[in-house]
Amino acid sequence: MQYYNINQPTDKVSLKEAIMQSPKGVTGLYMPETIPPMDASFMQNLGQYHLQEIAGEAAKKMFHGDVEDRVLEDIAAHAVDFAIPAVPIHDNIYTLELFHGPTLAFKDVGARFMAGLFEHFIARERKEVNILVATSGDTGSAVACAFLGKQGIKVTILYPSGKVSKLQEKQLTTLGQNITALEVNGTFDDCQRMAKQAFADSTLKPYVNLTSANSINFARLFPQSFYYFHAFAQLSKITKPLVCCVPSGNFGNITAGLIAKRMGLPVHHFIAATNQNDIIPQYLSSGDFTPKPSVTTISNAMDVGNPSNFSRMQALFNGVYADFKTAITGYAFNDEQTRKIMRQVYQQHDYVLDPHGAIGYGALQHYLQGKDLTGIFLETAHPAKFGDVVEDTLGVEVPMPENLQRYARLEKKSILLENDYDLLRDFLIETSR
Ligand SMILES: *Cc1c(COP(=O)(O)O)cnc(C)c1O
Repeated sequence: MQYYNINQPTDKVSLKEAIMQSPKGVTGLYMPETIPPMDASFMQNLGQYHLQEIAGEAAKKMFHGDVEDRVLEDIAAHAVDFAIPAVPIHDNIYTLELFHGPTLAFKDVGARFMAGLFEHFIARERKEVNILVATSGDTGSAVACAFLGKQGIKVTILYPSGKVSKLQEKQLTTLGQNITALEVNGTFDDCQRMAKQAFADSTLKPYVNLTSANSINFARLFPQSFYYFHAFAQLSKITKPLVCCVPSGNFGNITAGLIAKRMGLPVHHFIAATNQNDIIPQYLSSGDFTPKPSVTTISNAMDVGNPSNFSRMQALFNGVYADFKTAITGYAFNDEQTRKIMRQVYQQHDYVLDPHGAIGYGALQHYLQGKDLTGIFLETAHPAKFGDVVEDTLGVEVPMPENLQRYARLEKKSILLENDYDLLRDFLIETSR
């Protein structure tokens, strides 16, 4: 299948180019030319399949012909080799716990699948690839963990010194092997600027084969559709129509849900839940898409002022605003409301939500009032990842899962870098030898 660039539909490339590097040197906003439906018989028996079987089936539908079926099954099974349970909260509300992977956030699924595909494509070449990522925390750890030990791939992470949590820093700096952490004396924006400069620098080409692994990559986005199918499989005994509510920032997660629906998953309705960075809820109520500088909130993984998957969502609705509005309802909550939801769910239902999941719960609960429907919201991170906010809000300590405790005991290894692109350039050339 060919992939087209949303910003320039005549620009069509192969899967490998769309996810690794297009001939134009950028990994842009690519979409598959068609979205293949799942087999009707598979969907009828969805409840009988395990997560890994579902993942393999969906991956084969989407990437058939580009990668051997057997390889896709392996990559998909590895990407979701941890539980993603649908857990009842109360009445007709469920949560899909996406935090049982190695870095305790849903980004593990996409990062691990992407790592598998990269490894597959690179295995045929002699060239080494260097993945450069700028991170404010979560993305870097999911990517580093997913690519750890992969043959022919080096990962270089740029993170702002002193601006990620202690635990996040440990997750970035203790892995070793093919992962290098560069601690930049600057902000996240400085890191991102340096990374962009490196991708655009043609004088680096003879030395390193640079690739990005950012969230607009289709190889990271598509695998997130697996767990929507899996949620429905687990709730297959429920006869009422099912609503999916997604706490959103860059809107990759909800876009994967929309793709699952297009492949045949009978999602009754979607809810896009945001913090005060409410660009899409505003769009849904006014029809105007107006990006703004992001504001800082307690659900900081959703602090996005210009959601990069907006144009993908528009493409899925063929640019028809009325269809967009019919399929999705938007809600936004500020920090005070978010904390109130966390307290309410803890006191009444004995369930500890992280601030992102709390926004999902709040939006779903609001939407379902007076409706004869069932709903599931995605819990995108483990509450221990946002332990400070959770403890401050609920007054309870969140035990740290064993996965994370391990990091806390390891020794930090980073290379300090001044906020100067030339130093990054020198480093990349130096280490390519
Ligand atoms: C990345 C992230 C989100 C936002 O997901 P998008 O796909 O960007 O909408 C929500 N919650 C957590 C915990 C995240 O890490």
